[in-house]
Amino acid sequence: MTTEPDAGFGLYVHWPFCRSKCPYCDFNSRPAAGAVDQRRWGRALLAELDHFAQRTAGRRPTSLFFGGGTPSLLDPDIVAAIIARARTLWDCAPDWEVSMEANPDSADPARFRAYRAAGIERLSLGLQALDDQALRWLGRPHDVATGRAALEMARAVFPRLSFDLIHSRPGQSVAAWQAELAEALSFAPEHLSLYQLTVEEGTAFGARGIEPPDDDLGRTLLDLTRAMTAEAGLPAYEVSNHARPGAECRHNLTYWRGGDWVGIGPGAHGRVGGTAFAQTREPETWLASVEADGHGTASEESLSPQSLAAERVMMGLRLAEGIDLAHLAAGCGLSVDDVIDRRGLDRLRAAGLVEQVGPRLRATPEGWPLLDSVLAMLLA
Ligand code: SF4
Repeated sequence: MTTEPDAGFGLYVHWPFCRSKCPYCDFNSRPAAGAVDQRRWGRALLAELDHFAQRTAGRRPTSLFFGGGTPSLLDPDIVAAIIARARTLWDCAPDWEVSMEANPDSADPARFRAYRAAGIERLSLGLQALDDQALRWLGRPHDVATGRAALEMARAVFPRLSFDLIHSRPGQSVAAWQAELAEALSFAPEHLSLYQLTVEEGTAFGARGIEPPDDDLGRTLLDLTRAMTAEAGLPAYEVSNHARPGAECRHNLTYWRGGDWVGIGPGAHGRVGGTAFAQTREPETWLASVEADGHGTASEESLSPQSLAAERVMMGLRLAEGIDLAHLAAGCGLSVDDVIDRRGLDRLRAAGLVEQVGPRLRATPEGWPLLDSVLAMLLA
């Protein structure tokens, strides 16, 4: 099954532990119950990497991403061992992208330098807000001064840097977000992830009945975000991600462009040759499985061509570049009519929610905030 020509092949490593659990977070992350035996965890991550290397022989990784959780709590020598093992197991692309997520509360110059020496070239820092009151409300263990210091530390060490902010927080005015985003852009990052606050079931915010902003305010904040980032030379290349041209996150582009990737660690997902893998979510159970069987795969499912195509449409329309429908359908062994509903497409075009640019279909600025509805109408 073929994908976009430059979709790449990614490796993802999930570290499930954090210092504390943020009330909005629905990732597979938690504070560790006790001291984490990092040697033991390192051995298990390497074992699962070995397992998937056997199933993806001949593939050439274009990226490696340490996510979580808080992977910057992982000992640098374990990070180094994983990067080195990946290089041994696969013929990695010479310009592969090696990224790590980090939180300001675990930032430390010596630690950052050790990650850099291990091979991390791109750091993604979870600042989340540039307002102390908002950081407290978001349950973050750092303040603005710590966040700024972490940013400066990271800038001095890593050639590539991104940071995250959450907007559309209750009570946040348009003027307040404008000022916060202007400050963020003044740091001249090459990449920014700017997320609208979502309140998910199963989170502390969900239990507290926190309300996301109404659609009108949410739309105003999104429009403002897109205008300011474009003006600063970091246009949105994905719904929530903004970059200088050429500084896009290549690892995440692999997901959005329908590429394959291997995911190791608790709760990680992967896609290889039309097969979806999901690793056991609960960290201790995952660890026991890997130690017993060499992997912690909880499910392995061969996706139907229709499911695969629908997934690729959903992911691809998140991108400003959109999708080449004919190429996408053919890559799944289908015709365009197997994938999309032509009448739905006509209605979406007439409503100005999607547009055709050359061979590519993409969501318009009006369609992006309504992507779920767009997909419901578009998919066959
Ligand atoms: S630090 Fe990140 S992964 Fe950990 S709980 Fe907070 S939002 Fe979730």
